[in-house]
Amino acid sequence: MLTYVDVHAHLTHEAFAADRDEVIRRAADARLEAVIVNGLEPSSNREALRLAEQHPHVHAACGIYPVDAIASRIDRSSWTNDFEPPAPFDVDAEIDWIDAHADRMVAVGECGLDQYWITDQAEEQERVLRRLCEVALKHDKPVILHSRKAELRTFEILQELGVTKADFHCFGGKLKLAKRIAEAGYYLSIPPVVERAESFQHMARTLPLERLLTETDCPYMGPDRDARNEPANVTRGIAAMAEARGISVEEMATAVRDNCRRLLGV
Ligand SMILES: [Zn+2]
Repeated sequence: MLTYVDVHAHLTHEAFAADRDEVIRRAADARLEAVIVNGLEPSSNREALRLAEQHPHVHAACGIYPVDAIASRIDRSSWTNDFEPPAPFDVDAEIDWIDAHADRMVAVGECGLDQYWITDQAEEQERVLRRLCEVALKHDKPVILHSRKAELRTFEILQELGVTKADFHCFGGKLKLAKRIAEAGYYLSIPPVVERAESFQHMARTLPLERLLTETDCPYMGPDRDARNEPANVTRGIAAMAEARGISVEEMATAVRDNCRRLLGV
């Protein structure tokens, strides 16, 4: 029987406040054997651990999202994005907390670099990413990476630090770089929006089968425009990836399931 995985879900998001348990149950019904809830900052990190304790098929990754990583340095008067700037917190204390609780996580993440929402503070984002990679290395855990508009730099930092276990989530860089990332032994996880996004279809078609993973990034990146995404939708992602690649759903799902075990141990 085919089984599925979602290596990057935000079930702590307020979009799931009313029916979180039902969404988690639907994931199990859709034969998802592993849903990795990725934390972003102190509150979602703790919630991720709590959800992992409550549900056997839910696992936690804790990290610091690159925009949250520079929250205390954001110039609020010049903020132009259509969402509230994140609340400041003690970033180094949070990294210490992640270090102290790493045995309860399958990975460190979400972490990385972002030059899309914020085009300055690259140095501080890099400092936080480096510290989180050191924590991952110390505990022999993979890192789950956000790399929006900073894909090459993120890759370079991993290489420089000797990180060998990593997943690039929702990779938006050039296909040529995606190939380099896969050749370096890292994984790339593809969201269900692959149904209607050619760039992800190209990745699913071109990258080595043994380097592909599935994710949702829910509530975002869903197959249906403007509809809330959820872990059960990885089944649609797998179907679209198999079609793009010209292989059977069974072969695609089996490869991704094996890859998840190899990288994340679940
Ligand atoms: Zn995310």
